[in-house]
Amino acid sequence: MEAVILLGAPGAGKGTAAEGIIQHTDYVHLATGNLLREAIAAGTELGRKAKAFMSEGELVPDDVVMGMVTERFAGGPSDAHYLCDGFPRTVEQARLLDGIFNKINARLRFVFVLEAPPEVSVMRISGRRICKDCGAVYHVTNIPPRVEGVCDSCGGELYQRVDDNEETVRNRLEVYRRQTASLVDYYDKKGLLTRIDASGHHEGVEKEILGYLSAEQGT
Ligand code: AMP
Repeated sequence: MEAVILLGAPGAGKGTAAEGIIQHTDYVHLATGNLLREAIAAGTELGRKAKAFMSEGELVPDDVVMGMVTERFAGGPSDAHYLCDGFPRTVEQARLLDGIFNKINARLRFVFVLEAPPEVSVMRISGRRICKDCGAVYHVTNIPPRVEGVCDSCGGELYQRVDDNEETVRNRLEVYRRQTASLVDYYDKKGLLTRIDASGHHEGVEKEILGYLSAEQGT
């Protein structure tokens, strides 16, 4: 098993970049935020535990997230390649992930940190729209769908996440600064970190990351 991690503040463009990258590689998108939203929509026990934290913009407890991720890894093929988006989010999650990877001899290939100024994050989040059916991500002005409110890929209805309102976004950025930003140092010290300028268009970000992934494979 192999993994690549996308780090970055809310609105840095992790989800959008991940969508582009999975189209050109055999990586599987592992977005803990998406999994949690699916659990809430399905009304499961996991969703029930996560809901209040998410609507406040706080992190879901580490044990809940780790249980969910461990289950995913165990259920997937042993040669799977995962593109982790929004996970890990705390040093504790990163340590536990290291433990899992050591145990199963999996390799963490890269940790990309997508860097964008806070005002860019806020602008991206406030215009973000998501497909109810396939999860594709749009932006009202930057990545508009061909027909307003309708997904280009599957025709599904687009919606705005409940935690994409101004107050919650401010808290999510603060939570990132307080609980997640230290992971940049954590992975830098391990020699795994690559910084990506994510202030521009998402296609440039995807291209840069794809360049790193294919260069290492020698293709
Ligand atoms: P995202 O879709 O990555 O923006 O995540 C949305 C929300 O889900 C976050 O604000 C957290 O409440 C929760 N969440 C997603 N991933 C994690 C994680 N790895 N650890 C804790 N909470 C998470």
